[in-house]
Amino acid sequence: MNIKLSICTFGAMILASASYADPLTVYTSRGEELILPLLDKFSDETGIEIQMLNDKAPELIARMQSEGEASPADVFLPADVSNLEMAAQKGLLSSVKSDILEANIPPQLRDDENKWFGLGKRARVIIYNLESVNPETDLSTYEDLANPKWNDSILVRTSSHPYNLSLMAAMIVEGGSENTKTWIEGIVENLARSPQGGDRDQIKAVAAGEGKIAIANSYYYALMKNSDVPEEKEAADATGIYFPNQNAGEGQLAGTHINLSGAGIVSSSDMKLEAQQLIEFLSREDIQNEYAESNQEYPVNPAAKLSETLESFGTFKEDDIALASFATLIDDALKLTDESGWK
Ligand code: FE
Repeated sequence: MNIKLSICTFGAMILASASYADPLTVYTSRGEELILPLLDKFSDETGIEIQMLNDKAPELIARMQSEGEASPADVFLPADVSNLEMAAQKGLLSSVKSDILEANIPPQLRDDENKWFGLGKRARVIIYNLESVNPETDLSTYEDLANPKWNDSILVRTSSHPYNLSLMAAMIVEGGSENTKTWIEGIVENLARSPQGGDRDQIKAVAAGEGKIAIANSYYYALMKNSDVPEEKEAADATGIYFPNQNAGEGQLAGTHINLSGAGIVSSSDMKLEAQQLIEFLSREDIQNEYAESNQEYPVNPAAKLSETLESFGTFKEDDIALASFATLIDDALKLTDESGWK
């Protein structure tokens, strides 16, 4: 059928075609190239028209808050548990009871009140320079990165980014605030340069020898491995991926830190059934294969396949901490980093 999908970026929402009914409106921070083909497919299968508003997650949360009951948003689809949890805490997400979602998504990858559901997993990993680092003898845990042996060696983006805040919040759960504060101070001491750029830039800097290791999300590395941009592909080929905390001790993360992209139904939605249908669709095995493959995330549905690239990284032990438990500590983590020099 003819797809009536409309996209809008930073504000104005425009419908591509005359609508005969309210479209299902998705507020998302995910890239259009990732999410559009899947939304298209959903419209095709169900006849439900979709409208998408693309912006950064905190902007979308603020927007839903100011729009209140009149918000056109039906589904909120960001990356990072902290954004999902923040929306839930502000009362913006509605609980949903769905046998399909419960069957497709393991309990640790969804909110315990069913206000949000993970759709893709990402690991926060260590990317190392193949020439200056021997992973077997040099690398072990996140906690070890505060060791003075890494002086002038570490590349990582700004501390206030959700990816880092989530990691530190998980460390607070496992090791407590004091230890996490000491860890942050150690990281600051060991930085190869003051934080700049995103995860991809840290990986490129490691490849260029500006430092020895980067902390980055797994999908960036996997995307760079498959990149058509020679600079990205070369950087990925000059570096290796390491999954930390596989044999961690007391007070340390019990495995590699995991985060999620995911979705929830917006409380003020008057299309909750259709919204639920969309999230169920995105959790389905065949759609999970595509969703995970296109952004190089790990699927949440255990029946779905890993991409070839992720498969090549091998298996690893994930930190099995309840994601919601650290998401509530984001503010605590932000406070700790504010007191440190890691800006
Ligand atoms: Fe990202």
